[in-house]
Amino acid sequence: MGWFIAGVFTVILVLGYFAAPIALWTIAVALLGYYLSVSADFGFVTNVVLASVFVAVALVLNVPPLRRALISNRILAIYRRILPDMSQTEKEAIDAGTVWWDADLFSGKPDWDKLLATPEPRLSAEEQAFLDGPVEELCAMLNDWEITHERQDLPPRVWQFIKDKGFLGMIIPKAYGGLGFSALAHSAVVMKLSTRSSTAAISVMVPNSLGPGELLVHYGTEQQKNHYLPRLAKGLEVPCFALTSPEAGSDAAAIPDFGIVCKGTWQGREVLGMRVTWDKRYITLGPVATLLGLAFKLYDPDKLLGSQTDLGITCALVPTNTPGVNIGRRHLPLNQAFQNGPNSGKDVFMPLDWIIGGPEYAGKGWMMLMGCLAAGRAISLPTSSVGGAKALTRFTGAYARVRSQFKTPIGKLEGVEEALGRIAAQCYMMDATRVMTAGAVDLGEKPAVLSAIAKYHMTERARDCVNDGMDILGGKGICLGPNNWIGRGYQLSPIGITVEGANILTRTLIIFGQGAIRCHPYVLREMRAAKELQGGEAAREFDDAFTSHIGHVIRNAIRTLVYGLTNSAFAPTPANPAPETKHYYRHVSRLSAAFAFLADVSMLAMGGALKRKEKISGRLGDVLSMMYLVSATLKRYEDQGRIREDLPLVGWAVRDAFYRAQQAIDGVLSNFPVKALATVLRWTVFPRGMPFRPPLDSRNRDCAQIALQPGAARDRLTAGMYVPKNEADITGKLEAAFLATIACEPVDEKLRKAVKKGKITPRPGTELGQIAREHNIITADEYTQWARKEALRKSVIKVDDFPQDYGRAEIIAAQEEDTVKMKAA
Ligand SMILES: Cc1cc2nc3c(=O)[nH]c(=O)nc-3n(C[C@H](O)[C@H](O)[C@H](O)COP(=O)(O)OP(=O)(O)OC[C@H]3O[C@@H](n4cnc5c(N)ncnc54)[C@H](O)[C@@H]3O)c2cc1C
Repeated sequence: MGWFIAGVFTVILVLGYFAAPIALWTIAVALLGYYLSVSADFGFVTNVVLASVFVAVALVLNVPPLRRALISNRILAIYRRILPDMSQTEKEAIDAGTVWWDADLFSGKPDWDKLLATPEPRLSAEEQAFLDGPVEELCAMLNDWEITHERQDLPPRVWQFIKDKGFLGMIIPKAYGGLGFSALAHSAVVMKLSTRSSTAAISVMVPNSLGPGELLVHYGTEQQKNHYLPRLAKGLEVPCFALTSPEAGSDAAAIPDFGIVCKGTWQGREVLGMRVTWDKRYITLGPVATLLGLAFKLYDPDKLLGSQTDLGITCALVPTNTPGVNIGRRHLPLNQAFQNGPNSGKDVFMPLDWIIGGPEYAGKGWMMLMGCLAAGRAISLPTSSVGGAKALTRFTGAYARVRSQFKTPIGKLEGVEEALGRIAAQCYMMDATRVMTAGAVDLGEKPAVLSAIAKYHMTERARDCVNDGMDILGGKGICLGPNNWIGRGYQLSPIGITVEGANILTRTLIIFGQGAIRCHPYVLREMRAAKELQGGEAAREFDDAFTSHIGHVIRNAIRTLVYGLTNSAFAPTPANPAPETKHYYRHVSRLSAAFAFLADVSMLAMGGALKRKEKISGRLGDVLSMMYLVSATLKRYEDQGRIREDLPLVGWAVRDAFYRAQQAIDGVLSNFPVKALATVLRWTVFPRGMPFRPPLDSRNRDCAQIALQPGAARDRLTAGMYVPKNEADITGKLEAAFLATIACEPVDEKLRKAVKKGKITPRPGTELGQIAREHNIITADEYTQWARKEALRKSVIKVDDFPQDYGRAEIIAAQEEDTVKMKAA
């Protein structure tokens, strides 16, 4: 009997592990049943009864019409009853975009070879030249203090440069006069600008993200494209996109702004148009925009366009000089100087052909917005966050080497090292995610879920990094002024968190909520069968999806258990993994199976209520996100040729992500509403306890060292950022001080030893280097080197002070003088 039970377990494990079809299960059960009946000698009658039951069940399960009639049609009926109705806007949001690697992670069986075979995203020569030329030049023109404090805007010559060089038309095809850049190049430009001035980065980012340009490219009529795209590309039009209203922020589909289809006079002719009333706020570039992309709900009470009266959300392009458009006032978003403000209009008449795509796109605005959201969301905020992380890695590392306390560079004090190591490792993972996500967009994907993951996690990690950076800098980070290169970034971080889908909502509603429907191999098929199909077609589709779904759950349950028992030893890896990262692939495969299993059981146990259980779905989303971030990190390690020097960064970031994923799963299980099920799930997912530990301190030290040491690893980690060569600039000076400090370490060591041996004694009011020179402890050249290093160091640790009015009077006088000069000219 013992052998029989072992045989049953083995059969279940093997068939389940490989997701065998029902026919194979049937044969296996038949063989086991035959063996049992022969060996146990139940007697003829019992054998006949058992065989009859088996044949009946086997027929029902293996003959689709029978299976449908007796099982799946009944489940379909229940499913139809419990499946909540979806609004049109929800449907359009779900249908928008594509799935990519997220579907693999959701399957429980990621195909690593497919991912690694994806070519490494690369810039073209032309794109690289743009980065090395106009972008470098623009960065050199930017002075963040002048922009954010003195002018509270970009200087006119900077605006002009941005327009003239085509920065506002990076995503506009060359045929329309744009730069026609890849997503990777667009991302590289925004990233580099973000390392210099968030105002410039945002001012460039917004016209290249979701807004008039992108909507026109995808949906515009030929006439609209021919008119507007060349003007947008050359900066002759400054666009903005106005969706958010005071009453509708996150719930943007609920905008109260409306248009009524009516006849009116336009340029002396009677035309069919709309009277639009709106009240928008927070609109980036709004105060300086010449072209307002406007979203509102369109109604046609007189049925002038057809039989429908409530047409739905509609997007139109409105020149801001149209009579009745109120625009120009500004908000002050956390001391950032990018243009942002409200705008409104009451009963503003506009012709129907101002609708993007023309009258036939009336009411299709939400579909258009959702269709275009993913690409922009995959680039703008993730990229600017990576820019922030790169600047923090490079400049905080430099400062931590230059600034000493307790006679030690602060970067070598373990507490500071811990924060610095975190920044460096996060930066590696963030950049890997940026590149992989932009690469997916260049492959033609519109990754709805992955862009949400990238947006959420990059902005959150940027916030973590800037918090760490602020702690490392102490008072130097707090006192604002031209010598503070971090304070504005710290102020900026909540903006990234809030825009393009506020983060709490993105984490708790979108990542798992949308992922569970879009990326799951069967759920969307089941839903469509239930809600969109009818009769035999619905029954066949549902039956097929549902039976495959059951096999999928069994497979993932068994894989989860097997991987858990064997510490992921049998979990899939790529065909030729690097030995040093092979185990990481295995752990992701294990997490993927566990996640897929947990997701299915959660949906089964909580049904539609899971959507409201945001604490659970947020954690499930975290698991999916961590797997994505790890995948990107491992791919980057491969793409860059397995550079061993970078391994500490990979190791720290990956281990940290595994630990976070594990904590998220633990959180799901601890709070699972069906306690008995939670216990079974815990046994399955963690049969040998929770395997992952936080990354080791020693690895954290190695990461910090990369930020503290000039060299290839630091340069690779911060590649693509702007590093000023000019010592008059605070970050240029910081870089120079960093190099000078390191070069001068042997001289400092001589000084330290001389003091220790009593050869020289520090004297108040005289610099130690000078005393050492007087005693011939160091040469004249060494003294020059030491004095330069000291001058740089002192200059770098300096903070700004101002007159009582913070210099406002002086600034205003200078601006007035400028205006007089400009008028005279
Ligand atoms: C600087 C800046 C620039 C902007 N630029 C533009 C622009 O150019 N064009 C434009 O149209 N809009 C723009 N916005 C608007 C931006 O997209 C919104 O601020 C954002 O959508 C959030 O809306 P809200 O601020 O009204 O917050 P609310 O919607 O009031 O949200 C408040 C909190 O509730 C959370 N929340 C809401 N719903 C849920 C839910 N179902 N589950 C869990 N949590 C939830 C949110 O995550 C947030 O934490 C900008 C905003 C800012 C601040």
